[in-house]
Amino acid sequence: MRRSNNKWVLCVHCIEKPGNTDDHLVPRSWYPDSTPVGQEKWKFPACESCNHDYGELENNLLLRFAICLDPNDALAAGIPERALRSINPNAARNDRDRRARQDRRNRIQTEVHFSACAPQEGILPGFGARPDVEYKEFGSILVAVSDLSKMVRKFAKGLTYIEHACYLDSQYAIKWLPTNANLNPAIDEVFSRRGTKRFQGPGVILQRVAVSEDPAQSFMHVALWGCFSVYIAVEEQLKTFDEQEWIVT
Ligand SMILES: [Zn+2]
Repeated sequence: MRRSNNKWVLCVHCIEKPGNTDDHLVPRSWYPDSTPVGQEKWKFPACESCNHDYGELENNLLLRFAICLDPNDALAAGIPERALRSINPNAARNDRDRRARQDRRNRIQTEVHFSACAPQEGILPGFGARPDVEYKEFGSILVAVSDLSKMVRKFAKGLTYIEHACYLDSQYAIKWLPTNANLNPAIDEVFSRRGTKRFQGPGVILQRVAVSEDPAQSFMHVALWGCFSVYIAVEEQLKTFDEQEWIVT
């Protein structure tokens, strides 16, 4: 396990360059308006390059999630409006900003797929048609698994650093599974008894339970807006099946 050394703080993402900027574990724009004023929004050190890359990824992901969120749900309050504003050229501050918003708008419009029937397969858990809503047509948009995976790695690395000041290098494997936002009660009990449960406002829940012998290894649950929800396991990297000789006794 690599520990942070106060004299030389490294970027939590790449663990190579100096971590001379602050990166928010949950991006500021992802907090709903129902978040209490003064709520601490966790940060960790990141290099400029990684911070910039994540900024773009997070805007892109949020836009996709936001157009599918319920604007009347307090857990996501303000997020759909904020995302739509980010692609509204009339809300621009100057010509350059107007062009950027228009470009984003054009791009996202070509990616939204409309159909008469609700999609039945490949729906990210927590999303999909709501039973209490009557739809004239169904709009859907793809989310790249590579983008989700990168975001999950950020949650895993950031939360581990914030709680234990250690870095997740290649010694550790980060595995994840999208799930329903309603946490399994048995798993919730494990977090309650042995782990940490952090409410960062009503729409943001972070839970983590670490292995006592090596706190870099852990199990986490991240739930956002009452719909996006993911389990994350961090464990020591095993050799791949090709490299490993397995013994059974
Ligand atoms: Zn970096």
